[in-house]
Amino acid sequence: MTAQLIDGNALSKQLRTEVAARAQALKAIGITPGLAVVLVGDNPASQVYVRNKVKACEDSGLHSVLEKYDADMSEAALLARVEALNQDPSIHGILVQLPLPGHIDAQKVIEAISPAKDVDGFHIASAGALMTGMPGFWPCTPYGCMKMLESIGYDLRGKHAVVIGRSNIVGKPMALMLLQKDATVTICHSRTRDLKAQTLQADVIVAAVGRRNMLTADMVKPGAVVLDVGMNRNDEGKLCGDVDFDGVKAVASWITPVPGGVGPMTITMLLVNTLEAAERVAIC
Ligand code: NAP
Repeated sequence: MTAQLIDGNALSKQLRTEVAARAQALKAIGITPGLAVVLVGDNPASQVYVRNKVKACEDSGLHSVLEKYDADMSEAALLARVEALNQDPSIHGILVQLPLPGHIDAQKVIEAISPAKDVDGFHIASAGALMTGMPGFWPCTPYGCMKMLESIGYDLRGKHAVVIGRSNIVGKPMALMLLQKDATVTICHSRTRDLKAQTLQADVIVAAVGRRNMLTADMVKPGAVVLDVGMNRNDEGKLCGDVDFDGVKAVASWITPVPGGVGPMTITMLLVNTLEAAERVAIC
């Protein structure tokens, strides 16, 4: 078997076209969806991420504001900026780029964002909404994975999904989303005994660890769907995922590549969440 690719670039393009059309419709009634991106410090990777997010907004007709602050900005000053953005009617989504400098309590800053503008889906209210199946914002990376499964018409009902990784931003919300679609879900982590015994049971595997080649062909049931969230560098310095792509694609039925898989979907779902935040304001 050679797995078919789930192309995150192609799916993103389609979804971003839909976002642009819906943004146009909102503009026609006087609302331009707006995202504020806040960056504190000069982490080079964060600078690239925020630039990409702002550009994606502009390309889809969303208004975006990039606020950059020095690494020595105080926690109180950052909290005051977040509160000002909470009150700003031209801003529908607020994203504070992580990681923050060590002297700032990141969780405190996330909790300061209004849940109505929490388009990253990291606020405790968003986590609670996801857990209870209430409306809220879903974290963008696992939300993008769900869209990828939807795009291939994959019915999760009764399927066994194994999520490798239990972070608050990827693994745990991923597991809850799969559960919401009636999959039977196993969450694995660094203390899991015999990971291979778990993954071999899986109809769907989501690898979200941050270690290259941690999922190899011998760990995958023939015909499984494999989503690779990991972002690592290989020996040549090229971007790669957690999955041994060449080996696993010979066993799986569907697989996401890295690059060009989950990565572009993450930014796309940020646009979707920002648009939905603005649409919620529009119907109020
Ligand atoms: P994280 O917070 O470091 O979590 C990694 C998880 O992997 C932890 O739960 C850890 O278990 C588990 N783990 C570590 N070693 C393991 C092992 N040998 N076997 C099984 N589980 C193991 O990372 P994250 O933020 O969730 O991100 C995961 C990866 O996805 C990273 O490569 C990150 O760069 C990437 N990522 C990509 C996107 C994207 O847009 N494509 C977005 C976000 C993240 P413990 O909890 O026991 O430590």
